[in-house]
Amino acid sequence: MRIADLYKQKRPVVSLEIFPPKKDQGPESILDTLEAMTDLRPDFISVTYSAGGSGGSDITLDIAGIIKERYGVEALPHLTCIQSTPQAVEERLDKLLSKGLQNVMALRGDLPADGSLPPEGAYTYAKDLIAAIKARHPELCIGGAAYAEGHITCDSMEENLSHLRQKEEAGADFFVTQLFFDNEMFYRFHEAARKAGIKAPISAGVMPILGRSQIQKMIFMCGASLPSRIIRILNKYENDPDGLVKAGIEYSSEQLQGLAAHGADGLHIYSMNRPAIARGNLAAIRQGGAEAARV
Ligand code: FAD
Repeated sequence: MRIADLYKQKRPVVSLEIFPPKKDQGPESILDTLEAMTDLRPDFISVTYSAGGSGGSDITLDIAGIIKERYGVEALPHLTCIQSTPQAVEERLDKLLSKGLQNVMALRGDLPADGSLPPEGAYTYAKDLIAAIKARHPELCIGGAAYAEGHITCDSMEENLSHLRQKEEAGADFFVTQLFFDNEMFYRFHEAARKAGIKAPISAGVMPILGRSQIQKMIFMCGASLPSRIIRILNKYENDPDGLVKAGIEYSSEQLQGLAAHGADGLHIYSMNRPAIARGNLAAIRQGGAEAARV
């Protein structure tokens, strides 16, 4: 099913994100995780893509295919473009279609950390990848990345929204935001996006806190603001990892309930291959009565 159609049927659309295992391990190494995640019956599961390091095109698509075929849950494989030639992108899209997948998350990806140049002809921005997919495979439903606090290399909210609008104009059918810890950031961004004429559904991305180093990494990677309540949680549970995970699930569950009450189009949980986290968050959303059929 095209994910864009899910947003027409219900709000909020609730999704989970997982990442593939390391390159030397196959999809079977995370079958237990896939089974537990799909058992929770989210509306879709997205699978990250890594041009280098762990994961990679084939395993991302293999896992997405298993989620859809074996477990009957809609899948959203991610695809980045900045480290690939257009021909390599096209080959991945052919493979995606051959697996019966109907959705793709089209991303630029991060620039190579070693400063090396993109391959000849690589798409410069996500909007270019989105336009190419739309032109060649109009049947595919395309997701794009959104940034409630602006992309870390983007200078202003005005530019952030203008780049988002370009992605919609290029053919993006829906958006998922980068994680944020302060819902006010999302509310302001969502309102501004609508005022800027962006009409596609926008799912709000929430990541439960698991530890101090994870938070530090995220803040430096994506520039998310850190509410003082999170700093207090990190201090309180400094020597109690289980207590911290519990408090992290509580904090993110409150975030998700608040977003649902505010009428968010979708809730996307960065569940990091941890079914217990996804379970806790989904239970909170469902208890809050947030997952309702659209009338
Ligand atoms: P773009 O939209 O191209 O933006 C990149 C930068 O260029 C931004 O600063 C933007 O403001 C700027 N820009 C855009 N258009 C223009 C223009 N016309 N002129 C000038 N500047 C412009 N990374 C992975 O490697 N694998 C993943 O699986 C993955 N999944 C993600 C999922 C989500 C929901 C999100 C939010 C991010 C994900 N990322 C992933 C990270 C993403 O690849 C990085 O944030 C990357 O730096 C930007 O990708 P993008 O698709 O937003 O690029």
